[in-house]
Amino acid sequence: MEPKKDINEFDIPFAQRTYLNNNNSTLLQKLLIYSPFLLLLFSITLFSLIRKIELTPLNIFSSKTERNSNNRILGHLPYKEVSKDKLVLIEPNIEVHIDMRDSLLKMREEAKKDGIYLVFLSGYRSINLQNDIFYSLKSIRNQEAAERARVSAPPGYSEHSTGFAIDIGDATQRETDFETEFENTNAFKWLLKNAPRFHFKLSFNKNNKYIDYEPWHWRYEGSIEALKVFESSNRK
Ligand SMILES: [Zn+2]
Repeated sequence: MEPKKDINEFDIPFAQRTYLNNNNSTLLQKLLIYSPFLLLLFSITLFSLIRKIELTPLNIFSSKTERNSNNRILGHLPYKEVSKDKLVLIEPNIEVHIDMRDSLLKMREEAKKDGIYLVFLSGYRSINLQNDIFYSLKSIRNQEAAERARVSAPPGYSEHSTGFAIDIGDATQRETDFETEFENTNAFKWLLKNAPRFHFKLSFNKNNKYIDYEPWHWRYEGSIEALKVFESSNRK
């Protein structure tokens, strides 16, 4: 028969902790155990945020580029019609944007000094007029819209609506008006050399992907408003 154990052996108290202390230690232990994971999670979040900030401008740029190319109709970019109060009459039938008047007239004066006689053929054209030109000529010439668009912008897509475009001819060779042969005139040769001085630029050169070469068609880029208008076109 086993000796009767001393009752005191079973009653030795374990180290007692109060309920409150016990709970606090568990929380601390959990924090210590999970801290590497929390740190990792924090780092990943921070890294993703930085990456997102870095990539954001790129995303904006690519979506803008896409939108611009999608905005084209038969290769032409859209242009708003200039408000009437910004137009000035420089000749009986020629209205242009006030920003470019002085420069344009000065260019004609300077050309005259060199024995070159520039003639202005067409300046501002309303969207309504462009509508008539595009649709009437298209049917006269029995051309489809895409063919016609190579030589004339659809309404709402002409640089002429902005008041910043001017078609120029040679007063001594009027048979070359609006013709590719205009490139052989002295007026054109003079323009190629001197127009940049007056902030004029050839809009549709020989390498244009969508639109036929138009040696007579020049646009003004000598004011902030003009530069804003042609920003999309120049970015390409
Ligand atoms: Zn033109």
